[in-house]
Formats: sequence, structure tokens, C-alpha cells
Amino acid sequence: MENKIITDLNKDLDIKYHPNIKGVQIIEGKNNFPISWLNQQGYCEYQLYLQYFQGVKVGETQAMTTGTNVHNQLEKKFQESATPATFEEVLEFSKTEKTVTREMFVISPEYGIRGFIDEIWMTPEEFVIIDDKPGNRAYGSTINQVRAYCLAFKNMINDKRKIVGALRQRGTDNIFWSEEFDEDAQKSIKFIIDRMNGLFEGEKPFIKTKNPNKCKSCRFQSYCIHD
Ligand code: SF4
Repeated sequence: MENKIITDLNKDLDIKYHPNIKGVQIIEGKNNFPISWLNQQGYCEYQLYLQYFQGVKVGETQAMTTGTNVHNQLEKKFQESATPATFEEVLEFSKTEKTVTREMFVISPEYGIRGFIDEIWMTPEEFVIIDDKPGNRAYGSTINQVRAYCLAFKNMINDKRKIVGALRQRGTDNIFWSEEFDEDAQKSIKFIIDRMNGLFEGEKPFIKTKNPNKCKSCRFQSYCIHD
């Protein structure tokens, strides 16, 4: 198994900041948002509105800070044994040998999404797209997130190998959910991405969660008109 750091993914794209929505960029003329927002979209769309349309700033939770620290430690350890290579070189190399890369930036101007994939296993048979999560429950929002990474990755390659999306408990080897990124998964995530674009364009309303327990632990509670 080889560890590789991909070095050549800064594409020459036409990028502008969205005039009203913090974090949305206009890439090749189309709204483009961070894939991590899908996690928040599944929790409560009104949080997205407060944070990115209203510019409300709140601090991180302790769980978020711990998550970032674990993530950084894993990245540092990986880099100690990884060698640099271009994306094309890694794709080619992995046709004969299992290759692991971390923190790969993916971007799809076509679907309007971008983000960093925690870890990718590239083997002669398949690509496994792994997103690390703090717990071991597969929520709809986290599944959407990993599906979007799969979609962006698929959009960047010309390769017939199978793509698998997976969720792993952060800091462990416990893959607690996985699926092949098939036609149904693609259809499902494209529907969610269309919804996000509807929110950005003002065509659809931001729907608040119906779960009062989510509000109880919401960082935006004091700014929210619904609470
Ligand atoms: S308090 Fe509840 S409704 Fe308001 S943003 Fe938070 S989760 Fe959404």
C-alpha cells in the first residue's frame, strides 16, 4: 500500500465570490458551495440561512474542536509516510497497487460543489471515498455529504472503476456505513443539490427542523426567530 499526497489540483477556473452569500463562490458562472454544508442542511436549513445569508457568527462546540484536533493529528501522521504525486499519476499507479490519499480537494463546476475528502482508497477494482465522523451513526445528512464527495470525484475522473462511499468513526478503522455510488445514489444527491441551489436563488424557503431536541443543542438558538 502506498500513501500519496496529490499536488496538482489547483485548477485554472474562473472564480468569483457570491455578492450576498458568504461561502458560495461563482465558479465558471455557476453557484458553487462547500459540500460540508449538506450536513447542516440535513440538521436544519434555517441554520444555513443564519450563518451564510445573515452572517451570524457563533463559536465552535467542544466536539468540533476535538474533531479538528484528531483530524490534524491523523493528517500529520499520514504526511510522514506519503510521497507527492499528481492526480493522474495516482490514478494510474492505483491500477496495479492500492493507494491511499488524504485531504483531496474535489471540485465540480458542473454540479456546483467543492470540498476536501478525508481519505480515498484507490485500488485496482474500486475507489473508496471515506468521510470521518465523530460517532458511528449514519444520518441522512452525513450520507448526503459523502454522496456529494463521490459525485464530485466521479466528475473529475474518466475511469470505469466502481466508486464506494463510506463513513468511518473518526480516529478508528470502524467503517460503519458504506454503499456503492450507483444510479440511485446519484439521483438522490442531485436532487438535494438542486434543492440547495433553489435556496441560494431564493426559489425555495429555508425549512427549520421539526425536532425540538435539535434546537436545544443548536449554536444559533439565540439568533433564531423560530426558537
Ligand atoms: S434553533 Fe432550531 S430552528 Fe433555529 S436554527 Fe437552530 S435548529 Fe434551526
